[in-house]
Amino acid sequence: MNQTPQRPPEVLSDASVDELLRDTTPWLSCEECFERMDAYAEAVARGLSAHDQAMDRHLGACPACDEEARSLIELLQAD
Ligand SMILES: [Zn+2]
Repeated sequence: MNQTPQRPPEVLSDASVDELLRDTTPWLSCEECFERMDAYAEAVARGLSAHDQAMDRHLGACPACDEEARSLIELLQAD
């Protein structure tokens, strides 16, 4: 009577954890994007490098929000 051997639990390496975290980095919804737009535009307009990366990703994929952000940034820079 052979028992099915118990397999050791699979251990995730640090690299694959990083990979998972990166893959599950949520896209912002347009709604979330709009909520963060003011702060984002201000950071970009001031040339801060530490602006919102999730916003970068959303704007890179969403022309509507991208256009909104651009005009907001222009407006802030014009001040
Ligand atoms: Zn959007």
